[in-house]
Amino acid sequence: MKTVGYAAHDSEKPLEPYHFERRALRDEDVSIEILYCGVCHSDLHTAENDWGWTQYPVVPGHEIVGRVLEVGSGVTKYKVGDNVAVGCMVDSCLSCDQCHHGEEQFCREGMVGTYSGQDRISGELTQGGYSKHIVVREEFVLSVPEGLDLAKCAPILCAGITTYSPLRTWNVGPGSRVGVIGLGGLGHMAIKIAAAMGANVTAISRSDKKKQQVLSYGAKDLLVSSDEAAMQAHANQFDVIINTIPVKHDFTPYIPLLDIDGTQVLVGQVGELAESNSVPLLMGRRRVAGSLIGGIAQTQEILDFCALHNILPEVEMIKMDQINDAFDKLKQGDMASRFVIDMSSLEV
Ligand code: NDP
Ligand code: ZN
Repeated sequence: MKTVGYAAHDSEKPLEPYHFERRALRDEDVSIEILYCGVCHSDLHTAENDWGWTQYPVVPGHEIVGRVLEVGSGVTKYKVGDNVAVGCMVDSCLSCDQCHHGEEQFCREGMVGTYSGQDRISGELTQGGYSKHIVVREEFVLSVPEGLDLAKCAPILCAGITTYSPLRTWNVGPGSRVGVIGLGGLGHMAIKIAAAMGANVTAISRSDKKKQQVLSYGAKDLLVSSDEAAMQAHANQFDVIINTIPVKHDFTPYIPLLDIDGTQVLVGQVGELAESNSVPLLMGRRRVAGSLIGGIAQTQEILDFCALHNILPEVEMIKMDQINDAFDKLKQGDMASRFVIDMSSLEV
């Protein structure tokens, strides 16, 4: 199938229109017309090859919402016209222990990323959601629950699941004391989701500029990370801290904020961290952990959770040709929301 998207051709150049083919429908495939796609900071890292593993050309985008155009002969879950979504993975072996218990992101053979991954059958490069169409095997297609606004829900597919998954892993519930560092796409969803779980949520930011916004998302307070007196006053006050900072940094200053046995979960920075110090870890049996997106069943769970609790990402809608400006704004880090591309702005 011929389609069009926006691709990066190397780390230096802006994204530009790119005509390419989606694979012919296999028996288990669903062909989707993409309506909306969120803009994740990982898209920007990948376009600019920050992690060193980008394969060009790359069409980014892994917060995909659309409508089923066609289904393969073996598809049972979806029919033409259904509202569906695709997140950060499009395939895995589906037979290892991790796939069997619903953690396809940790597939022993490696999951296939929505973009800059390798198709398990043809070996072709996968291409993401900054495009008109995508073809995905049914097991990796999610259902958009009735009542969830199609134009706004795309960021749940990455920002939502990536923050929901660790909140579940570390048993956040009513009364949990949760901190969220970095109030961008992931951070603002972490606040909304943790608040809906009944947690007391404190936003942790480089300044107080986003305070009014995040209080309206359900945070009880905002702690400015450069304010040493305020950081000290918050010592021992958190059970779980979700750290979404997207650049190389030292996580040590946030550790004393955790209570005994508390956990700081790194979901942001991928790669080398700045030098850290074990003292505050030892003095409180505190932990630092990592977390990677979430499995397919859990991604469906967070979509359903958001529909049930009326949670929607804060969205700034853009046209496809505004993507390079959006990337520039993302680098500045001063939005407590997510850009979403309205794919109707892109002509085939
Ligand atoms: P955003 O750019 O939307 O938000 C990041 C936030 O971090 C900013 O809003 C800002 O918040 C803070 N920040 C930005 N720059 C700095 C800096 N230099 N020092 C300290 N804080 C900073 O990014 P996303 O939320 O989309 O993504 C965050 C990270 O998570 C990215 O690195 C992304 O690749 C990664 N990611 C990881 C996933 C996983 O599975 N683990 C999945 C998806 C994304 P403030 O102004 O409040 O300080
Ligand atoms: Zn993402």
